[in-house]
Amino acid sequence: MWFFRSPEIVFGEGALEYLAQVQGTKALIVTDENIAALGFVEKVQAKLREAGMQASVFSEVEPNPCLQTVQRGAQVALAYEPDWIIGLGGGSCLDAAKSIWIQYERPDLAPDDVAPIGRLNLRQKAHLIAIPTTSGTGAEVTWPIVLTDLDEHRKVSVGHSENIPDLAIIDPAFVLNLPAQVTADTGMDVLTHAVEGYTSHWRNDFTDGLCLKAVQLVFDYLPHAYERGTEDSEARERMHNAATIAGLGFGNSMAAAAHALGHSMGALLPIPHGRAVGLCLPYTIEFTVRGYLPTRYAEIARFLGLPAADEEEAAGSLVQAIRDLARRIDQPLSLQGAGISREVFEAQLPALVENALNDSAMTVALRFPEDEEVEQILRYVYEGRLVDF
Ligand SMILES: [Zn+2]
Repeated sequence: MWFFRSPEIVFGEGALEYLAQVQGTKALIVTDENIAALGFVEKVQAKLREAGMQASVFSEVEPNPCLQTVQRGAQVALAYEPDWIIGLGGGSCLDAAKSIWIQYERPDLAPDDVAPIGRLNLRQKAHLIAIPTTSGTGAEVTWPIVLTDLDEHRKVSVGHSENIPDLAIIDPAFVLNLPAQVTADTGMDVLTHAVEGYTSHWRNDFTDGLCLKAVQLVFDYLPHAYERGTEDSEARERMHNAATIAGLGFGNSMAAAAHALGHSMGALLPIPHGRAVGLCLPYTIEFTVRGYLPTRYAEIARFLGLPAADEEEAAGSLVQAIRDLARRIDQPLSLQGAGISREVFEAQLPALVENALNDSAMTVALRFPEDEEVEQILRYVYEGRLVDF
């Protein structure tokens, strides 16, 4: 038995208008200082007023939100008693909103004590809306939450399928002015979600089409969104759709080895999530196709119209297409190219290997690497050399 989970999704130009039709009395908007400074909060508040709702704002979410921030947000919610929680921002804001909502509904549970088993019985007090302002994480349609425990210097992965948002508003107006660097980093995250969602052990009939479509949208529109920015509203809109479509794909399947390596790097090196996973993706494809057949990379390559006479040629074509895309949007092709010094890399290597092997995304990779193989792959990623085992 398996499930396909999704919020109600409103997308395209003017999608935010739908907020004026939501029924309720009070909303708590969970966001960060940057989003508040961009004037996005006022846009959301205006629509809530049209809906006859009051709104309060919690704008203390930081990148990689910590348990303490979530607890403060939950105190605000408990005092304000909203019937809607609205996450507005990138993945960090959406994760914080999910976690604050759970704490508000279930103050008896610690934020790091939310596991995907049993029942949470959410939606007794409020429902959740997610409004992404980047085109990347897919957090608007997925349920896992990543928080940071400042006291113990660790990341905690929590969440339950019940905490998937009720409504996701995919309005391209929120991403029209995204900086080029953020566009490139988050776009590589979308591509990695889609390729891994299509090739993980948990891929299924319901997610395959979503993943293929998202891969195609990234190749067609990411370079334009990066190069033309505000000038190309179509590219912005299609990339915003692609992020959510890939979120539905990998969220109902699973990410794999590039995410395991990327998560590991993100915790130990100064490199954003999307840049890290996008950098690792070609290396993990090369590793997989040399030890596990058939891989399904050929299906992706054929769908994109790339040379794909056999599995090896197809994987090679896909790797080359990913590297060409990365070059075109000025993404690094190696960890060295990402500005990580050899000293720092060597010092962190044992922890990078251990974290990657313990990451849940690694367990669904088609080819599960041994310790030494993970170390070798990371060395290839550092040097930017082709994987040859
Ligand atoms: Zn990701």
